[in-house]
Amino acid sequence: AKQTGRNKLVTYQPTSLKHRFANQIQMETDLRKAITHNQLLLYYQPRLELSTDRIICLEALVRWNHPQFGMIPPTDFISLAEESGLILPLGEWVLREACLQKARWLAEDKLDYQIAVNISPCQFQDEAFADKAIQIIEQTGINPAYLEFEITESSIMQNMEKTVAVLEKLCAKGISISIDDFGIGYSSLNYLKEFPIHCLKIDRSFVKNIQSNSNDWAITHAIIHLGHALNIQVVAEGVEEIGQLDILKETTCTTIQGFLLSPPISAQEIELTFHEKTYIEAIHG
Ligand code: C2E
Ligand code: MG
Ligand code: MG
Ligand code: MG
Repeated sequence: AKQTGRNKLVTYQPTSLKHRFANQIQMETDLRKAITHNQLLLYYQPRLELSTDRIICLEALVRWNHPQFGMIPPTDFISLAEESGLILPLGEWVLREACLQKARWLAEDKLDYQIAVNISPCQFQDEAFADKAIQIIEQTGINPAYLEFEITESSIMQNMEKTVAVLEKLCAKGISISIDDFGIGYSSLNYLKEFPIHCLKIDRSFVKNIQSNSNDWAITHAIIHLGHALNIQVVAEGVEEIGQLDILKETTCTTIQGFLLSPPISAQEIELTFHEKTYIEAIHG
């Protein structure tokens, strides 16, 4: 259930957490509280452009710091949030916090990167989504061009007509759109010519065995070249080893994310580690 949680609504079956929360109702009550009681926080994972050796984007990834249970990863609560409808206030909190963090960095004139925010299909299907998102961004005063929304193929495929309208509204404001977990959803390629898409994020399941599995390599290669041909940025997700990076470079991949460069870390750690002059050391040792 956890793996598909972002793509469709499934019955929530907590595994690692089930012994801690008395039941699902309790967890939902706690999560509702978490949103208003300052228990959520954002970690950030850098995206590196290989041709320039520069960070170009930070992906915001939510965590729940539970007063008793400590840090809970999103894979343990996003499905519950989607099922209970809490994903709407949670998603708004994430977007606002990402914008406020960007505003702080702008005010301090540092870390001049885009911020990528994950958008659940449940948020994307909400009638008010685009207007609400734009309102939040405007309230924080940052230029929407600093933002990228990561959506999944399933978000797009739900209702093509509505999707065009929503994406055009967001793009008109200057927000970039990326397709997260590209390649694992069930979808047609047709939308790539219909919709304003800026970036494809190759799912890390393809990158994982790129060195040993020729099919994984072939698919990754095809996505990278599709991106070049369509003039769309392509990011390889989940790069953990230098061997994977070498092959991705050979395959003319332009941008990467993954533990090799950095796992998601707090805003404070980002400031310490990814100041312009230090981040290259992070990957070149
Ligand atoms: P995602 O958007 O595909 O994010 C990438 C996930 O892969 C992150 O897990 C990240 O920590 C992990 N990752 C990055 N590099 C590597 C690597 O080299 N190796 C491995 N093994 N993993 C890597 P995380 O932070 O636990 O998030 C999991 C998923 O939860 C995200 O997948 C996204 O679908 C969802 N999520 C996270 N934050 C949010 C949010 O604010 N809103 C929504 N709607 N979903 C979110
Ligand atoms: Mg993502
Ligand atoms: Mg992804
Ligand atoms: Mg993923």
